[in-house]
Amino acid sequence: MATRVSILGATGSIGRSTADILCSNRDRFEVEAVAGGRDAAALADMAIRLGARFAAISDEAALPALREALAGSGVAAAAGEGAVMEAALRPADIVVAAIVGAAGVRPTHAAVQAGRTVALANKESLVCAGYAFMRDAREAGATLLPMDSEHNAIFQALGRHRPDEIEQMIVTASGGPFRTWPAERIAVARREEALAHPNWSMGAKITIDSASLMNKGLELIEAHHIFSVAPEALGVVVHPQSIVHGLVSFSDGAVVAGLAVPDMRVPIAHCLGFPDRLGTSARRLDLAAIARLDFEKPDLVRFPALRLAIEALRAGAGAPTVLNAANEIAVEAFLAGAIRFGDMATLTETILQRFGDARESGVTESVEAALALDAEVRAATASVMSTAWKSTY
Ligand code: NDP
Ligand code: MG
Repeated sequence: MATRVSILGATGSIGRSTADILCSNRDRFEVEAVAGGRDAAALADMAIRLGARFAAISDEAALPALREALAGSGVAAAAGEGAVMEAALRPADIVVAAIVGAAGVRPTHAAVQAGRTVALANKESLVCAGYAFMRDAREAGATLLPMDSEHNAIFQALGRHRPDEIEQMIVTASGGPFRTWPAERIAVARREEALAHPNWSMGAKITIDSASLMNKGLELIEAHHIFSVAPEALGVVVHPQSIVHGLVSFSDGAVVAGLAVPDMRVPIAHCLGFPDRLGTSARRLDLAAIARLDFEKPDLVRFPALRLAIEALRAGAGAPTVLNAANEIAVEAFLAGAIRFGDMATLTETILQRFGDARESGVTESVEAALALDAEVRAATASVMSTAWKSTY
């Protein structure tokens, strides 16, 4: 029987790579639902290409365009947050969670609560609401398959083990486009420079997070929740070639690493085929041609976003929620040209300090409590930017 898949965030970078894998393995999969944000034309194309039964678009104003583009196709269409929830909840064997940002939390959580197998790309779900999210996943008997390349590599490297046999988990970071830049230059880096990632082609938000190394910080928090590993047992190594993605070291000194060319189709195929292997047309790894792999320590002074994320991971409770929300607003503002590159971390740190006592709030108890704090932090971050910050430009 074919595996039924639904894709949340179907028109994005991960969504499109997922569609490539599904299309090259047509006999194995059928698509139940696709969901997107506001691009009706792209969503309709994707729904038709994949033969989906249902297409949901978050932006209600985009519904007429979606309906028109789907006319005669037999694909049902709906709009609004409720429609995206429906896409998450329709019967499916695998739900690919690839909406960007905290907008992905509710639908991803809904799929988890329904006990689905969720292939998780939307790391912000775990950063925003990881404690409650993981508890609800366990209670519902949901399976999480890590799609993020580093976590997928670690998942593959883990094999059979007891938790007390794991000494350390390491995620690698390419270092992004500013790896060798001095701090003064990074602080004023332009949008196009920050969007020019050396190894990966991804959506705008994660590309900016990769340039600031915030992405790696979000990934440490993600790993903490997915693999139930203590903050002290997690590490980051900068590896500019992005060939080694994640490593696990065990109590006997053995280290198992996951390697592949930097192509998201590899971890996506692993999740979709799991526990079997699918074929992909990803370039094969040729170590002799690559010739050398370099590793270095991350620089927390030039990349303060990573320091902030590590501090939030260690502080726990509401700190990761605050970090994630402030960062999302800061990245949007940077992309809109309202603040400079270096301001993103400064703004996030200001907000983390302001919300210091929210760290003890009830965000670990429920996803809704985490989302309430998320909304509060977004409003506060926007207000700090529009008052104190504007005057400096
Ligand atoms: P993109 O920006 O390329 O795509 C985002 C997707 O989410 C689009 O389909 C967008 O639709 C949709 N979307 C946005 N808001 C909503 C909403 N409110 N409701 C429903 N859909 C919405 O992002 P990426 O694919 O790069 O990243 C997606 C997630 O995967 C992120 O969490 C990222 O961190 C993670 N990830 C990405 C990797 C990558 O290589 N790209 C690697 C590892 C993790 P529309 O186009 O209509 O706005
Ligand atoms: Mg990653």
